[in-house]
Amino acid sequence: MTVINEKQCNGCKICQIYCTVDAIIYNSEDKKCYVDQDLCTECYVCLRQKVCNRGAIEPIELDNFYKQFQHGMSDPVENHGVTGVTGRGTEEVKTNDVSGRVKKGEVGIAIDMGRPGMGVYLRDASKVAMAIAKVGVELQSAEHTPLAALMKDVKTGELIEDCLNYHLLSVIVEGKCAENKLKDVLGALQEVEKQIDTVFSLGLILRVDEFGQTKALACLDELSIPQPYWGKVNMGLGRPLSLD
Ligand code: SF4
Ligand code: SF4
Repeated sequence: MTVINEKQCNGCKICQIYCTVDAIIYNSEDKKCYVDQDLCTECYVCLRQKVCNRGAIEPIELDNFYKQFQHGMSDPVENHGVTGVTGRGTEEVKTNDVSGRVKKGEVGIAIDMGRPGMGVYLRDASKVAMAIAKVGVELQSAEHTPLAALMKDVKTGELIEDCLNYHLLSVIVEGKCAENKLKDVLGALQEVEKQIDTVFSLGLILRVDEFGQTKALACLDELSIPQPYWGKVNMGLGRPLSLD
């Protein structure tokens, strides 16, 4: 947990400009800053960068699982225990030609929620995971993606109550669906985006045919999801190559 030692703080407010989610608040009564614990994502930017030259910003040991999860998802240099990579999701979009988790006829879904300046509450991640699970997305299991460790049931996507009010810098909701379900999934996302208090970007992991084509982009056009679409291309050079 990140706190400001009031005895050390002189209220200069310099730390405020470094906080990724405006969680450092100035109190005009005692003329000192404090960390709003509901907003703080435990990203540790203020600590890593040593932004207070009086050493007033201090870490307190993260004493519960949700706090540790929050830090693991929000601090980009933290290695996540499940995935073994830094950051809050998997490397699926870059490695599917070898891992083969998304098969021919399927579409991988990676909803990247929250951004510096905004963050994401887990209650909103829960709403999004539930919305897409309801229309046929098979969510990634806890073996592969961090968020699943907080789900009551990976089939429904609902997160456990105790974690819902934790604020993260970002988190990724991951899963896959049959290609013919993609339109329903996109429709569900268009509905649920009205009910959440953050932003997200949508990554689609697509298997192209022998001509390099996919039907999915036509589906985006049908729903008036605006271009441009940015892409990363796996050349199929990874080995052993997944063929199914
Ligand atoms: S924590 Fe440090 S940088 Fe922030 S207001 Fe207090 S003295 Fe200034
Ligand atoms: S840990 Fe991150 S969110 Fe919390 S006060 Fe520091 S910079 Fe802000």
